[in-house]
Amino acid sequence: MIHFSCDRCGKSIDANEELRYVVRVEVQATMESGDALETEADRDHLVELEEILERLDDEESSLISEDVYQRRRYDLCCSCYRKFIRDPMGSETTSQFDFSPN
Ligand SMILES: [Zn+2]
Repeated sequence: MIHFSCDRCGKSIDANEELRYVVRVEVQATMESGDALETEADRDHLVELEEILERLDDEESSLISEDVYQRRRYDLCCSCYRKFIRDPMGSETTSQFDFSPN
């Protein structure tokens, strides 16, 4: 039997008895390539970046690519899923601390 645990609260999830929620997060750095950005400086910068990437060894270049693209997968228990889907960016929790009603 495969054992799962919630990535948020750490509770173990019995896959046979309760629902497990799989959250897939994909983060990709993007930059709008409109005419305004097609300047000489940008092209130079791109060439520079390529040269840097070529010089780096595999370990370091993989760190850089993590800045540009990341894919994560989380298992959530039922109650953590409900909290997550209501407030995926965690903004609710933060504002509760900042603006607690008195
Ligand atoms: Zn949980």
